[in-house]
Amino acid sequence: MKKCTLCVDRIYNENLPEEDRVPACVRTCPTNARHFGDFGDPNSDVSIMVAERGGFDLLPEQGTKPVNKYLPPRPRRKSVDQPMSLLAMADAATPKGFWQWMDNTLEKLG
Ligand code: SF4
Repeated sequence: MKKCTLCVDRIYNENLPEEDRVPACVRTCPTNARHFGDFGDPNSDVSIMVAERGGFDLLPEQGTKPVNKYLPPRPRRKSVDQPMSLLAMADAATPKGFWQWMDNTLEKLG
């Protein structure tokens, strides 16, 4: 964490559109695994998400009061009637998750 600046040059940059004023790793994560917001505001999206999903600190016994929270894994979805294969997911009429991201990326490349 020594090199992380929390992308301070992005989050306060009023020349960027509002939706881009988040750390680059948050903005570009293809699986939307990272979130950014104000834990000082109990009504912010991140505060609500952490409250609803049981977010927690790593190593709380260290007493460092970290500002990052971690969410426990979501419960696994029950498999549908038949097991999904990578080929089936890639062939799906409406791709989801990684395949949706891949589809969108390839679409942009033309
Ligand atoms: S991209 Fe993420 S890890 Fe890298 S400096 Fe920005 S906030 Fe820190």
